[in-house]
Amino acid sequence: MTAATPPLSETRVRPHVIVWTLGGESMQTSYGANCVAVIGQDAVLLVDPLIAPAHARPVAAALRRHTEAPVRLVALTHHHTDHTLGAAFFAAQGAQVVAHRACRERMAEEHPGLIAARREAPATRDLFADASSVLPTVTFDEALVLHVGEVEVEVWHPGWGHTRGDAFFFLPADRVAICGDLVWSGYHCNYEDADLSGVREGLRALRALDADTFIPGHGPAGGPEILDEQAGYHEVMAGLVRDAAAKGLDDAAIAGEVRARFPNHLLGLVIPTAVVRLKL
Ligand SMILES: [Zn+2]
Repeated sequence: MTAATPPLSETRVRPHVIVWTLGGESMQTSYGANCVAVIGQDAVLLVDPLIAPAHARPVAAALRRHTEAPVRLVALTHHHTDHTLGAAFFAAQGAQVVAHRACRERMAEEHPGLIAARREAPATRDLFADASSVLPTVTFDEALVLHVGEVEVEVWHPGWGHTRGDAFFFLPADRVAICGDLVWSGYHCNYEDADLSGVREGLRALRALDADTFIPGHGPAGGPEILDEQAGYHEVMAGLVRDAAAKGLDDAAIAGEVRARFPNHLLGLVIPTAVVRLKL
């Protein structure tokens, strides 16, 4: 057995919109990614069903405390595994998986190899024992509307932001936006596949929505201030890395400055990649 999975924490941002996370910052807790349920009268949409079937199962159990309606749709904000590999659990029960076309392409390229490698590694073998690569059955290029019972969910592709295949979701009647990893709250931002001007564009697109509640990819939901904080983070990081590089600091020293500037942020493991990407 690997370390026991901690309990899901649940936040009900609307009567029919629920966010679950395992918190933390390790693979054993899906890196703290948020999974969001939109519950309609006769159907459920799940956005980003965590990193493995082992984490999707407690989500399914938590969902059953709110509704008997089946998960008809699973939608993905982007291809990173902490948001996607739980989809296989719901697809096996008949859910359609929806994502941007480029998200599907990256899943097809990357996921079989990542799953195989994690099954080999002793630390992750158990978590991924029954993981499999399931590709979206519905893709889109620009936008889409999902009808979850009576609830309308707009799906938008803001261009290449956090990844080439980003999607965010907007529930106009509820003024709720599900942002994916265009927004992190209390977590460092993973820039490994990001377009640096695109992440700012993505934040502007979220800001333009008539929403008052924003659910980030990682960290607690909040109002528009979490978009401002994320935009500020990008500015601080870009300036800090540029100035430190100009002073001749090496990457490890720059990473140390980043940690010192954001002492309470989780997911420090992405800082080295951030330094490399922001120096370009
Ligand atoms: Zn991501």
